[in-house]
Order: sequence, then C-alpha cells, then structure tokens
Amino acid sequence: MSETTKYEAEVVVIGAGLAGMVTALELLDAGKRVVMLDAATRERYGGLALLSFGGMFFVDSPEQRKNGIKDSVDLAMSDWVRYGDLDPDDVWPFRWAEAYVNRCTEEVRGWLAERDVSIFRAVGWTERGYFVPGNSVPRFHIVWGTGEGIVLPLIERLDAHEKSGKLELHFDHRVDGITQEGGQVVGCHGASNAGSFEAKGDAVVIAAGGIAGDHDKVREVWPRDQWGEPPEHMLNGSILEADGKLLDRAQELGANITHLEKMWNYAAGVRHWEPLFPNHGLSLVPAKSPVWVNYQGRRFVDPPLVGAYDTLMLVDRICQEKKKYSWQVMNRKIANKEFAVSGAEFNPAVRDKKMLTFLLRLLQGNGEQVQEFIDHCPDFVTASTVGELADKMNALTGTQDVDAVLLERDIADYDANIARGPKLQNDDQLRRIAHVRQYLGDRLRTCNMARIVDPDAMPLIAIRMQILTRKSLGGIQVDLDAKVLNQQGDPIPNLFAVGEACGFGGGGMHGKRALEGTFLGGCVYSGRVAARAINSGHGVR
Ligand SMILES: Cc1cc2nc3c(=O)[nH]c(=O)nc-3n(C[C@H](O)[C@H](O)[C@H](O)COP(=O)(O)OP(=O)(O)OC[C@H]3O[C@@H](n4cnc5c(N)ncnc54)[C@H](O)[C@@H]3O)c2cc1C
Repeated sequence: MSETTKYEAEVVVIGAGLAGMVTALELLDAGKRVVMLDAATRERYGGLALLSFGGMFFVDSPEQRKNGIKDSVDLAMSDWVRYGDLDPDDVWPFRWAEAYVNRCTEEVRGWLAERDVSIFRAVGWTERGYFVPGNSVPRFHIVWGTGEGIVLPLIERLDAHEKSGKLELHFDHRVDGITQEGGQVVGCHGASNAGSFEAKGDAVVIAAGGIAGDHDKVREVWPRDQWGEPPEHMLNGSILEADGKLLDRAQELGANITHLEKMWNYAAGVRHWEPLFPNHGLSLVPAKSPVWVNYQGRRFVDPPLVGAYDTLMLVDRICQEKKKYSWQVMNRKIANKEFAVSGAEFNPAVRDKKMLTFLLRLLQGNGEQVQEFIDHCPDFVTASTVGELADKMNALTGTQDVDAVLLERDIADYDANIARGPKLQNDDQLRRIAHVRQYLGDRLRTCNMARIVDPDAMPLIAIRMQILTRKSLGGIQVDLDAKVLNQQGDPIPNLFAVGEACGFGGGGMHGKRALEGTFLGGCVYSGRVAARAINSGHGVR
C-alpha cells in the first residue's frame, strides 16, 4: 500500500473555483501559506466561473451612472428582499444579503478592477420580475472576457505565489473528509491518482461549490411541495464535482446546512452535442418573441412565458405540467435576432474581447450560431409548415404528445393578435415585449412584434427545452466572518465556508430567487470575508 502524502500550510482551501481562488489570494497577499486542493484537472482551474458568462450585480456603479441609471443600496435591498422573499428573521441569510448589497460595488467590483478585470460599459436588465417585482433598474454588469476575464487575471496572481512557494496547489485531489483531532478541525483528507493524502492547517475553508451537478442530490432535496415530483429527465448545467459531498461531511461535524431545497434552475436547457459528462446541458437565454408551448404544443397563457422577467416563475410554471419540459416555437428571423446561450463557450466575441465582432453580432444577429445549433443540437427541429414541425417535434421525443391542430391554432391566434396592430393588440407577451424594447440594450436584441408564421422568415424552428440544474441557493450556514455554524448557531472553530458551498453567504443569502449576476459576486465577497477573518485570527484557534 502506498503511503499517505502529507501537505501542511497555515490554511487549507478545498476547491479552486472562484470562491477558493479569492480566499487563497487574499490570504497569500497577507503573507499566509496556503494549500489549495481541487478534484478537477488543472485546465479547469476556476471551476464554474471559468465557464460562466461573467454577469455581475452591482449597485450604483460607475457603469450605471454613466448610463444615467439611478440606483441606491436602499432600492437594491428592497428589490432583493422582496424578490427572494427573504425573511428578516432568517438571521444569517438576511445579514449576508444586507452586507452584500451594501458592499458589492466597492468590495467586489472595486477589488476586481484593481486586479485588471474590466467591466463593459452597457448594463443589462435581467430578472425584472413578472408578478413579483425584481430589479427595479438594470444591474447586470458584463465582465469583458466573460468568466475568463475574471479567472485569468486571478490565476496570474496565484501563479506568482505558487512560484514563490507560498501556495501549494494540487489538482486531481478529491477531498473525502474533514480531519479532526481532539475534537478540533485540523485539516482534510482524500485521494489523488497517486494515492491518499492528508492536508493540515490552522484553518480549513470549504470552497467546493454546491449540489447542482449531482442529480441524485438535487432530487433528494427537490421542493416537492412547490414543483411536485422532479422532472423525469433534467440536464446538468453545472459540473460533476458540484455534488454536495463536502456539505454532507460538514453536516457530520455538526454544521447547519440550510435552504438546500432552494435552487436556481433554468427552464431553457438543451443538450450539449459534445457533452463533457452525461446529461451535460446548455442554458439558452430564453428568447422573447417565440411562442412558448407545453409538451403538447399548447401555448402557456396563464401567463404567457417570456424570458428576462422571472427565472423561477418559468421553472415553476413548467413544473406544474404532467411532463416537465417545454418548447419554444419561432422562425429563423426571430432566432437570428434573439438567440443567445449563457456562458463563455457560446459568447466568443465577449470571451475573446473582440469588440467589432461583438457589435456586429448585436446589430446583425446571431445567424451563424443559430445554424450551428440547427446542425448539431439534437433539441432543434425545423420545418416549413406547422404541421410538419409538429411531426418533427413528436419524432424528437418519440411520442405523439404534440397536437398539431392545437399548436397551429395557438400560433394562429398569436399571429392574429400581432396583425391587429399596436392599438388593438391584447396579449401579455406582446405587452412584455413592448416593455423590454423600451430599453436600448434589449431593443437591439428583441424583434418588434414578429409573427411566427411569416413567409419571409422561414423556416420555422422548434426547440425542446428541459429543466437544467445550475446553482444551489442554500448551503452551509456561516456567520458574517464566513465561520461555519453548528445547529446551535455557534462557530465550529477553524472551519470556514465560502461561495456556493455556503449559499453564497449565510447558507442562502438570496432567499428563493436571485436578481442574477449575484453568484460570481457572492464568491468574491465571501472569499474576501473569510480571508479577512482568518488573517485577523477570528475563528481560528
Ligand atoms: C455556464 C455558466 C454560466 C454562469 N454565468 C454566471 C453569471 O453570468 N453570473 C453569475 O453570477 N454566475 C454565473 N454562473 C454561476 C457561477 O459561475 C458559480 O455560481 C460560481 O462560479 C461558483 O463558484 P464556487 O467557487 O463557489 O464553486 P465552483 O465553481 O463549483 O468551484 C468549486 C471547486 O471545488 C472543486 N471540488 C468540489 N468538490 C471537491 C472535493 N470533494 N474535493 C476537492 N475539490 C472539490 C470543484 O472541482 C471546483 O473546482 C454561471 C455558471 C455556469 C456553469
């Protein structure tokens, strides 16, 4: 049997995603020695942030001001609490939300800017809210370079610490448990390709992400009272390592795990045609002009489903159906203008910082990418008539669920409404489209009342969309120093949690809904908080 490899430093960080990286960097910059361990391979340094689009929620930022957007901490906090239905008596999530909303612009945006992360001038407006008001003003800031634009400058700085010997970084190292001696947390242990290992330090930081990558875990905590049974099939928009195993290990040590039933899933998942793992899905940014129909081809009308308003409501509505997937039906012209995919992979112009290409795409549409998806994604079908489309939709699912007559009728009703002209149109989707188009950033990417059956815009396209798991809103409960709390509310000495592992703060600082772009920021903020506490000796014996 091979011997156990031993690592020793002042602080052990488990997980080299954004939260772990920020924690480590802040500790190293303050002179601490750090061991950081990650189950994944080195090319995945950065975890989910590397794959992310890089949208970030800030309040009263320079970008908002330049665009004439008046925002304030009070307004943002009231939006946050109302949208997330956050309970002020749920002390730690509420306090974390307050801290985050108050400080994110200075402590996250400011900190990143000092580390060469640049923010795009235009600000997006996501999660406006459908029935529950969401972001009163645009707050979705885009990092130039997508998630890579955040991760790469941080890696550069961490590399320098690694070279100096202050940082020991080990990939392919899966942590299986937290080590205790004499009732005290002293490190962690696990396995790598080379055999077992042990890492010891004065403090241990769990930065191992959430549960969205493990569907068994997701199904276990699925909010059945709200969404009924989980869909028969879901897509995985996270990574397999986000399996919640370390949340279980922390719980065994007495940690309080809260709000795991709150999850940020997306309604518009499609299968990746070059999957990195089983069920690997891509999350489409739902277009606004298609007709959104259920598994039978019946349009959702109570209310009509439209993107950009309320992610949770979309999932909620689809999960009320017998079969919990849906379709968007559109034509090629709509797709060319409105098609978008979340994440770095399918936003190459932003990722590679190609301003001209980015602007051209904005003005001319995304036709090339639409074709790529038509050619490769198994969830896309095209046809020249609604009847043919319905046949292909049924062929895709291997059912006869889609009723061509129903689909044809609902599309014809929608198109007829548009044809009546702006004075007589009476449809909630059209009202939403009109509202969205008032904001320049969205006007450029939203069609002006486009009919579905339009001979000049063929072919018709139907996209089958499944629920995609992405982020966990709950996690390990931590106090305002990111110290892990036990069931009695007392800190477990030497143990900290950051990022998605702690529900981005407090074990669930969002409540049940997120205003979007708050995840990356939550990782940076919680990482800084934990490092600050450790550097000043709080929570470390
Ligand atoms: C495509 C995509 C787009 C996104 N876009 C946005 C966006 O625009 N805005 C936004 O705010 N958020 C976005 N997100 C979400 C955001 O990226 C994540 O919530 C955030 O990066 C989580 O960071 P983390 O460090 O907490 O966890 P992770 O990134 O999950 O990192 C955890 C790390 O721990 C490692 N690990 C796990 N278990 C173990 C173990 N037992 N032992 C050792 N290592 C382990 C993992 O390998 C991983 O590297 C997006 C996510 C995706 C996938």
